[in-house]
Amino acid sequence: MDELELLIDLHKDDARQGPGGDRETRLSIELSGLSGRSGLSIADIGCGTGASTVVLARELDAHVTAVDFVPGFLSRLEAAASRAGVTDRIATLEASMDALPFERAQFDAIWSEGAIYNMGFAAGVEAWREYLKPDGILAVSELTWLTGHRPPELQTHWKTEYPEVNTAAGKLAVLEGLGFAPIGYFVLPEHCWLDNYYRPVRERFAAFLERHEHSEAARQLIAAEELEISLYERYKEFFGYGYYVARKVGP
Ligand code: SAH
Repeated sequence: MDELELLIDLHKDDARQGPGGDRETRLSIELSGLSGRSGLSIADIGCGTGASTVVLARELDAHVTAVDFVPGFLSRLEAAASRAGVTDRIATLEASMDALPFERAQFDAIWSEGAIYNMGFAAGVEAWREYLKPDGILAVSELTWLTGHRPPELQTHWKTEYPEVNTAAGKLAVLEGLGFAPIGYFVLPEHCWLDNYYRPVRERFAAFLERHEHSEAARQLIAAEELEISLYERYKEFFGYGYYVARKVGP
């Protein structure tokens, strides 16, 4: 198994593959101003096993296209949609977020929780803008510095892992520069990381290592996850996930 296959194997049985929460998805929906509208067309890009997709389908009068490049996540999403009774409002699409088969102005809104970093925030915002109708909504969560200064260990780690990490002011400037008017920003609370993401995945570490017979690659992956968790536990005042809701302005 290569590194990506190991990552998928570690995360596939969790409800979330990144920090987030149903309440926080509902907050982004409220900020978007879409509640009360009917017949909406929405894409959820990098949907994973679909925690946000199901909330969107439940809360809005919408059809949601759930996109991910991992088929195993999409089949779990379909099972979750069926349990939630929203199968008829969701279609899954196996595709890469940087080569989407969408049309210009196809969607009223695009959501993406903890996934746009895979193509880079600015590249994603720029590429996805054309799929939005005029006044369309973009709602994304993204790794964000919470302060102007931070401990060197943290700075070095995230600058290496994700060079585009920035403050909210920096992220908002990217949105503004690419033809969006920000309408809301909030920070995911701690429980979205610790209770909804890190704790459940940590409980799977031992079984994962056994399943992979403590291979070098499996041990390296777990060590990287442990380091990430420990950085969050030690430095959570300094970074988090920002949730950005913005409206497309102009042609
Ligand atoms: N939105 C989900 C998953 C976040 S993890 C949640 O919050 O739980 C990031 C997701 O992006 C994973 O499901 C991963 O498979 C997907 N992904 C990563 N690179 C991708 C790409 N190039 N195209 C499509 N999906 C991608």
